[in-house]
Amino acid sequence: MRQKLIEFRNVSFRYGEEEPWVLKNCSFHIFENEWVAIIGHNGSGKSTIAKLVNGLLFPQEGQIMINGRQVTEETIWDIRKDVGMVFQNPDNQFVGTTVQDDVAFGMENRGIAREEMIKRIDINLNAVGMQDYRMTEPHRLSGGQKQRVAIASVLAISPQVLILDEATAMLDPKGRMEIMNTVSNVQKEHQLSLITITHDLQEVVQAERVIVMNEGEIWDEATPREIFSKKTKLREIGLDVPFVAILVDELKQMGVPITNEALN
Ligand code: ADP
Repeated sequence: MRQKLIEFRNVSFRYGEEEPWVLKNCSFHIFENEWVAIIGHNGSGKSTIAKLVNGLLFPQEGQIMINGRQVTEETIWDIRKDVGMVFQNPDNQFVGTTVQDDVAFGMENRGIAREEMIKRIDINLNAVGMQDYRMTEPHRLSGGQKQRVAIASVLAISPQVLILDEATAMLDPKGRMEIMNTVSNVQKEHQLSLITITHDLQEVVQAERVIVMNEGEIWDEATPREIFSKKTKLREIGLDVPFVAILVDELKQMGVPITNEALN
């Protein structure tokens, strides 16, 4: 049976006693080796979820379980070793003067032996297709390449769950595609649990499951296919359905057979 790696049990959160609740009684789980996309318009509570998983914040109500352990101020230091995060701005994530230094940094902090570090730098730069840029200074990379290095750096510390919080938001369409392809390959290869947080419906297509947030509540939880079939309702909560999905739907209604081959 598939194990739950992350579980939110009736979690509510607000940024201060006088502030409004930004997460309201949220319950969901993420299995081992599952890719879940969390989508919702700006301010719906997605980043707050990411920060709660990583113990940057703690809920006032409810419980968060990771690997069967409750996230608390005491357990978080240990639990955080299992959680890797990549954020929106690629420029804020670099500490090394070369790509290779950068991937090494997180490992050095964890006291990983030099031999092992060299091996992991190799494996993980290969995994994201950046093996030819080992000695490159990070500021010379494109946005998409920077985010791929950020992913390699996180993978090098062998997390069980990888969270990408709007990691493609500052990239051009090519960079976005690079990241989504990288993430898809890496997830399959490393058997990771993956949470991708986005406001862009195009990015949920490859996920196994989609959690839709609205006003701090879980509005829906379904497969991408089911989510796309709710176009009108999605628009009501400020999410735009990609043009291709609309086109495919209209062609089907016209009786034009749509096969996977036709879409490739
Ligand atoms: P999303 O990631 O979906 O855009 P967030 O989780 O960032 O949403 O924000 C949810 C709500 O919490 C928003 O109303 C936002 O204004 C509020 N919020 C986020 N960060 C803070 C903060 N540091 N202090 C007070 N309110 C915040």
